[in-house]
Amino acid sequence: MVIKNYLCSKCGSLVEGKQMPPGMGCLTNGNFHRWRDIGEKGDKGFHCEGCSTVVHSKETPSMFGCPGEGFHNWKDLK
Ligand SMILES: [Zn+2]
Ligand SMILES: [Zn+2]
Repeated sequence: MVIKNYLCSKCGSLVEGKQMPPGMGCLTNGNFHRWRDIGEKGDKGFHCEGCSTVVHSKETPSMFGCPGEGFHNWKDLK
């Protein structure tokens, strides 16, 4: 079973799951999350310099949908 990382490009919430999480509950304008599938969950740690999100992923997560800069700037977590 593939577990994916979903990140809201509006509020920066990170959720792991098999499918896209529900849209309700975003703290920003409109109250609906804008989820992005940023890739498969895994053992490698990454940290985005734009939005400070830390994610564990199989490969480098998708660069799209950073709430801070527009594009995530993933660095290996040390
Ligand atoms: Zn949100
Ligand atoms: Zn980011």
